[in-house]
This record gives sequence, structure tokens and C-alpha cells, in this order.
Amino acid sequence: MAYSSIRIGSIFGIPIRLHITFLIALPLFVWVFGTTFFPASELTLLWGFLLSIGLFTGVTLHELAHSYVAKKNGVPIESITLLPIGGVSQMGDVPEDPNIEMRMALAGPLTSILIGAVLLLFALPFSDSEIANFFAVLGSINIFLGIFNLLPAFPMDGGRVLKTKLAKRYRYDIATRKAVSVGHAVAMIMFLFGAFTLNIFLMLIAIFIYVGGSEEERQTSIYYGIKNLKVKDVMRSEVDCLKEYEKVSDSIEELLRTKHIMYPVVDRDGYYLGIVTLDQISKVPKEEREALLVKDIMATTEPLSPEMSAKEAIQKLSRGGLNRLPVVDNEKVSGIITIGDIIRVAQILNT
Ligand SMILES: [Zn+2]
Repeated sequence: MAYSSIRIGSIFGIPIRLHITFLIALPLFVWVFGTTFFPASELTLLWGFLLSIGLFTGVTLHELAHSYVAKKNGVPIESITLLPIGGVSQMGDVPEDPNIEMRMALAGPLTSILIGAVLLLFALPFSDSEIANFFAVLGSINIFLGIFNLLPAFPMDGGRVLKTKLAKRYRYDIATRKAVSVGHAVAMIMFLFGAFTLNIFLMLIAIFIYVGGSEEERQTSIYYGIKNLKVKDVMRSEVDCLKEYEKVSDSIEELLRTKHIMYPVVDRDGYYLGIVTLDQISKVPKEEREALLVKDIMATTEPLSPEMSAKEAIQKLSRGGLNRLPVVDNEKVSGIITIGDIIRVAQILNT
């Protein structure tokens, strides 16, 4: 998400980002809004442009409302990204409290409905003019946005509200699964409706809901699977290490034999020093492989400990970019762990 979007500013310390597809879709919005709501105006495209900007300001305020309530409840907010089909807030772990989550979910749609109502009031003094039409249309769009988001189509806001209701009766991951099933059904109806009315936009949203729901269900199920797991429960204990004083040329023989993409490096007494990756080895020019030692190309990466929770391990692994790290206990290498290992065990435990 970070690479495909541009930062346009920040509010309450929350960076607001614009997804590049948004810029591609903007002219389309301008044209559709202009020709739909101001077909007879001399300023059709200007009104279309103002409606588009107005709509996405509304979407931003909707997302800010979610983020504001989240932040007040201690949830870290990374950023808000605006996509052509709406806004998405990237946030940290939401506490497992149905009441907090319900307030977070409702804040967005209620804000949209409130903004819509205020805009409709703005329309009143300008009776029958294009300005009145502008406020009336923008107000109605915001109210529609609020109500549409309240559909029980997880991961949309209404689906999240449904999940918090279910979470009062079922375990959290089961509540999520049930809410996702309802969301899938709504998404399918929406898709068919979009197909019959040739509304591509609605079909896109339906796909977004369907895929987004499945993804969140998968994550919740993994999270529940690993909740009580530690690194030592999941790691592989057979490890091939390289010695710091080995020549790079010798390490290549080891590499051809074992075919790993990462090796922990140990000193003479077997104590952990760092890691060498396949990538690092292959970057050493052929003529230097005899002269260079493993310790010359090694990276001093911080390893994981066997007692660390699997959840924390996943965070460190995904941040590292290598997807695998050595596990070190009392300065000696005791295993290797990959994200794949954790997810596999989590899925087995949760079926
Ligand atoms: Zn929302």
C-alpha cells in the first residue's frame, strides 16, 4: 500500500494517503457526477469536480471518525488511504472488546449521515439554484454513504457491528467467521445486482467485500491459532550453520548441498554471530570467494528467542523482509523459524 500511494497531508497526526488508482479514477468521477447531476449546466465538469472532491472529503472525514475513536481507545493508527471505492484505515491491534469495536465501527457511518444532514441544510437558503443542487446532491451522497456502510457486509462497518453483536455470544474467531459468511452472501447479492444493472462500481465493491472478508477471517483464524504458541513450539531444530572463519568458496559447497536461503553464522565455540543469506553469498564476485571469509559478508541480525510469542515472531519476521530468522538460546543457535512454519501450525491447531 505504501508504495502505490502518495501522502497528501495529515490530520490529528494521522497521515492521509491517496492511492494512485484514485488519480486515474478521478476524471471518471468528475464526468459521471457532472453529467448525472448537472447535465444542463454550463459548468457541468466544474460541478462534477467539486462533487468528487466533496465526496472524498466526506470519505476522509468518515475514516477520520473511525480513527479518532480507535486512537482514543489506544489503537495505533498508521495511516488512512483513499481508494476510488472508499477509504481504508491502517491500524494496529484492535483490543478484543466488542464495545470499543462497535463504537469504532459506528463512528464512520454516523459521521457521514451527520455531514449529509448538515449539507442538506446548507442547500435550503439557495432555493432552486445550482448551488442548492450541489449541496443537496453532496448531502444525499454522504447520507447514502453512511447507510450503505451500515449494510451487514463484513468488513464494511455494518458487518463489523454484526461481528461485535455475535462476539457477545461466540468466541471472537467464530463470531468473525459468521459475520464473514453473512458478508459473503451480501457481496454475492450485490455483485448480481451490479451485473444486472450494469453497475461496474457496485460489482467492484462486492469483490472488495468478498476478498476483504476472507482475508480478515484468515488472519483472525491464524491469530487464534497462534495465540498461545511460542517460537520453540514452531521452530525447526535441525539447523545448518556456517563458521565465521570459513571461506566464502567453502560456504558455497555447503549451500549447494543443503540449498537453504539463509544460514546462521557461529564462531569457533558455536556461539551465534549473525546470518548470511544466499543473496549475500551470490553477490560476492567469483574471484573474491577464495579470499573472503564468511564473517566478512555476514549481517549481525538480531535473532529470535525460543520463549518469544509466535505473534511477536511474525511481526519481527515480516519486518525483516527475509521471512526467516535464527532462534538463539543462551547465545547458541537452537533453531530456525519461518512465517510459513507459524501459519501452518496455526492452521492445523485451528481446524
Ligand atoms: Zn467506515
